Amino acid sequence: MRYENVTNMNHPVGVGDKSPKILVRCIGHEFYYPISDILRLFTGEIPCTEENCVVCDSGAMASVIGPSSEDLVLISSISETRIETYSEKCASEDDPLRIFIDKEDMFLPSNREVKRQLYFLLSRLSGRSFPWGSLTGIRPTQVARELSSEEEMTKIYDVRHDKAHLAFLTRDREDLVLKATDPDSLHVYIGIPFCPSRCAYCSFVAQEAPRKTALLPQYVDAVLSEMDMVLPKIEGKIETLYIGGGTPTVLSEELFEKFIKGVFSHKEFQNLKEVCVEAGRPDTITEKKLQVLLDAGVKRICINPQTLCDATLTRVGRKHTAEDFVKAFNLAGKMGFSIINTDLIAGLPEETAEEFCDSLRRIIELQPENITVHSLSKKRRATLTREEIVKQEKEELQRIEKMLTFASEQLLLAGYSPYYMYKQKDTLGGHENVGYSKDGTECLYNVAMMSDQRSVLSFGAGGMSKRVFFESEDVLHARVERCPCIKDPIQYIAKVNEMAEKKIRFFD
Ligand code: SF4
Repeated sequence: MRYENVTNMNHPVGVGDKSPKILVRCIGHEFYYPISDILRLFTGEIPCTEENCVVCDSGAMASVIGPSSEDLVLISSISETRIETYSEKCASEDDPLRIFIDKEDMFLPSNREVKRQLYFLLSRLSGRSFPWGSLTGIRPTQVARELSSEEEMTKIYDVRHDKAHLAFLTRDREDLVLKATDPDSLHVYIGIPFCPSRCAYCSFVAQEAPRKTALLPQYVDAVLSEMDMVLPKIEGKIETLYIGGGTPTVLSEELFEKFIKGVFSHKEFQNLKEVCVEAGRPDTITEKKLQVLLDAGVKRICINPQTLCDATLTRVGRKHTAEDFVKAFNLAGKMGFSIINTDLIAGLPEETAEEFCDSLRRIIELQPENITVHSLSKKRRATLTREEIVKQEKEELQRIEKMLTFASEQLLLAGYSPYYMYKQKDTLGGHENVGYSKDGTECLYNVAMMSDQRSVLSFGAGGMSKRVFFESEDVLHARVERCPCIKDPIQYIAKVNEMAEKKIRFFD
């Protein structure tokens, strides 16, 4: 078997003039997505598929391919007896640029083995490794459930020790939270995809509310009517309700009250284990809106500064200050919300590690029950040379690593523990997003949603409903089916009946 860690090889690195391509030829399989995940991790580029081949610009790998500017051709092959990955120029079986495993020795599913081998091969070529190793496109906590130790995760997937530890810690808390929910339960999401302004880094469907004032009442009516149509037809006990967005509190006080009263008029929401409402942007929070929530029995909200550095807040287009956040946070606490989550983002444009660490310290001083640390690391390369891109990406990865490591250490010291985690593919380095909580304050909905172990019924534009099927006693391998909803709010309003019927059929 060849599961040894092989990333620390010294390999000559040259610098080319043009930008050659990396081509991965697939023989005996069509695992294009897993291959694309790994190529994206190393190159920062979005690969595409050609006939039996995944291709992408060499991007951050360009300097590795060398001065010849020739394309790098790799072969990923599955035969009857073996899975192997090698460079086209590879001479012999012993060549370090050939990685293989005989099928009789294999214990990973083929798609993961293909991915793992490509990761190690590119790692050998470039001398680079990533904190989460070859774990892209898969939740680390799910992998942790399949393994017996952190060391195994490190050895098989090249995950760094501290990250493997984080994955196992989170897995244990996730499992505890899941035990508090019925496997057949349903979890409801309602989306209000509008915000007071659009943040520069936003990757959601959120639209700017001030430009859509006439649309908002129509949208609220559409969501409420969709719920009227769907909820009576759905079987299964609803355990949690999450109202997110966008920023639901961007609605005017009158419209917000109408919306919340409309939602809680449904008898299906009378015995929920948990309700959480996002009041993400502090500048949308008023005493009246908070009172509407409290009157409806909501005790859990999210108020998300993302950073407490005013210069960054201005830079990313958020129209509030750190002080606005603190005022809203204190008001919510004083009025009686028992669990407040705050989100921070590591890697906001031009924010230094020191500024991030300062925000985190100040948030910890406020003692919210939950703190969620997201990571953001987009490539920025418009007019840069190849060498500058490589240098900048390296610095960017180090900057975010410093922030995430500091966050993890400080939050554990302050009595918070990680309880759910997910990773996004389109970030450089595939960094993680982690929800931390004080014991007993975990958000059930977040775990239900992210774990893919519970069904989710989603209302509103852009929502994704999903059904989880446990086809055996093995809770590690639930089958998940998804049902997306139209993203554009105008289209959603026009087709709300169609969307409702689609969901009723989906959950039938
Ligand atoms: S608050 Fe969130 S959803 Fe709204 S624009 Fe900013 S990032 Fe997007």
